[in-house]
Amino acid sequence: MINFALIGNQNSGKTTLFNQLTGSNQHVGNFPGVTVDRKDGYILGYKDRVITDLPGIYSLSPYTNEEIVTRDFLLDEKVDCIVNILDATNIERNLYLTLQLIELQIPMVLAINMMDEMRTNGGTIKINEFSRAIGVPCVPISAAKNEGIQDLVHEMMRVAVNKIRPEKIDFCAGAVHRCLHGISHMIEDHAVAAGLPRRFAASKLIEGDEPLAKRLNLTQNELEMIEHSVVEMEKECEMDREAAMADMRYCFIENLCRNTVIRPTVSKEYLRSVKIDSILTSKYFAIPAFVLIMGLIFYLTFGPIGTFLSDGFALIIDWIINYISELLIQFEINPVVHSLVVDGIFAGISSVLSFMPVIVVLFFFLSILEDSGYMARVAFIMDRPLRQLGLSGKSFVPMLIGFGCSVPAIMATRTLSSERDRKMTILLTPFMSCTAKVPIYSVFALAFFPNHAAEVMILLYATGIVVGIGFAMILKKTVYKGAPIPFVMELPNYRMPSAKSVLLLMWEKAKDFITRAFTIIFLASIIIWFLQSFDLRFNLVEDSSYSILANIGQIIAPIFAPLGFNDWRAATALITGFSAKEAVVSSLAVLLKTSADQLPTMLSSMFTTASAFSFLLFTLLYTPCVAAIAAVKREMGSVKSTIALIVTQCAIAWIIAFIFYTCASLIL
Ligand code: GDP
Ligand code: MG
Repeated sequence: MINFALIGNQNSGKTTLFNQLTGSNQHVGNFPGVTVDRKDGYILGYKDRVITDLPGIYSLSPYTNEEIVTRDFLLDEKVDCIVNILDATNIERNLYLTLQLIELQIPMVLAINMMDEMRTNGGTIKINEFSRAIGVPCVPISAAKNEGIQDLVHEMMRVAVNKIRPEKIDFCAGAVHRCLHGISHMIEDHAVAAGLPRRFAASKLIEGDEPLAKRLNLTQNELEMIEHSVVEMEKECEMDREAAMADMRYCFIENLCRNTVIRPTVSKEYLRSVKIDSILTSKYFAIPAFVLIMGLIFYLTFGPIGTFLSDGFALIIDWIINYISELLIQFEINPVVHSLVVDGIFAGISSVLSFMPVIVVLFFFLSILEDSGYMARVAFIMDRPLRQLGLSGKSFVPMLIGFGCSVPAIMATRTLSSERDRKMTILLTPFMSCTAKVPIYSVFALAFFPNHAAEVMILLYATGIVVGIGFAMILKKTVYKGAPIPFVMELPNYRMPSAKSVLLLMWEKAKDFITRAFTIIFLASIIIWFLQSFDLRFNLVEDSSYSILANIGQIIAPIFAPLGFNDWRAATALITGFSAKEAVVSSLAVLLKTSADQLPTMLSSMFTTASAFSFLLFTLLYTPCVAAIAAVKREMGSVKSTIALIVTQCAIAWIIAFIFYTCASLIL
């Protein structure tokens, strides 16, 4: 078995190359213990050569989740060969990571990508000289055009089999050189004991990398000596330690590129990007353009196309359910089992699966935005306002998707690189009122605010956002202290996304979703069916108002007395809303024994105007549905924080509805 690791900056073409190398024989999952996407695949034509697509990173410092995952992967797993992919049109920035990878002394090949763009703009790289100067074999490729891939595979095999490590070139000079080599000799024994390359260990120590220092197990004495020698270097260079190291690397890169890289004349792609950016990120048009683009995507996803697909999909599922139902009847299966399968399991799974087309369509658009380079700009535009809330610009898109559905929104937080930013975003997403709540709002608006339906809707959405902002402020002051990671991403040129990458991503999301539907949702559906179908003595009930669920509703109804609706039917409906928010309306209809069109009239006998709005506020803010909770649990990786989220949200919902109802009853 030979293991390759694919490493490079974001948008350097990693995913495109990975897909070229593996075809579609890939396995998608997470790194053990953390939720950062991991993809493994066999290289086409080789059954025993595995390549792993690692997250896009800019350096090997332990600042972001991605960097930590990548570093641990390289240091702890048996990687036989690193494939470092570089964007030729941005080679200086990309080489910054390469220099750190060289220090690891793992066999390595450089895949210099985007050569098509480079060449059409009159640029080139003198590959042989370049390769000699950096001491690593290089292969020019174009992942998108499938050029040079065979040569790359060939070179990868040669390097891996013969264990050709990067040459030990000394790319430092002056004060940094003295400091680096001094420390490197001093810690040699510790580095060997910890299984780390000594030069890598030394440069990370200079950069003040604490996790690594711990790993080396240095004595107090040694730590002090290192500190002294670093301070000495800082004085001599007149720069702080990190800047001095960065400067040293960039000096080497500059020298290297001066002699071996012929820079392209200002590239077509660059000029095009500048032109597009002069509208899309300009002072006045940036936000309107963004609103327009997102509006269009939302309209297409949740509007006609999405509805068409969802309806079509629902039709197919219905047909399957009916078919199975007939089959069960034909074989005279016990009616209870029939009910369990049809009303419980299938109904539950299909209610979740019916989201799937929408999610796949949404991810289709999002992956186009991402690959084209627009997403980086959105994050850049929104960074400043969100920073005030303790979030970074990248949190914006997931929260926006939350207005459609929390499930893909929570899945989309994977694009955030710091664990802190990611968790905060996940916790905030459920405050963005999702589309599944719209049926509830419209039924109530029709019943109680027939002339002000739109205002009520807007008020509810706004309340969700305001409460979310408040919650973010509190999180920032308590659980998630500290600043969001600084925005360092450079804006890549706009590029045509590759169809293969987009399609593969859609398939991954769909697969992910289906797996979830058949695990956690499966269980939850059985439980809810059971509670709905049996009474306390475990007799099957005809009328769901005698079921265990209704009993639970009766027990918890008094909790809602201060909110104005001490009614077991309202309580039961809220419980069923846990499975899916649309269920609140359908349960109310079932419990009130009425049809959907009569529902508004029946509701007016159950609620007053004030208690109706209080009910709406509660529905807006209380726990998200099972599917969303399952997503939270998976992405947070902790049951405790998931339960904490549910409890907190219910508490917030109760308090806000209580405040509203108390004020309303005092005024009216
Ligand atoms: P990743 O972020 O490193 O995974 O990068 P992607 O594989 O998503 O690629 C980023 C963008 O560059 C996509 O729009 C690709 O279609 C495009 N791209 C990738 N390789 C090439 C290439 O060789 N030439 C050109 N012109 N574009 C490429
Ligand atoms: Mg990628």
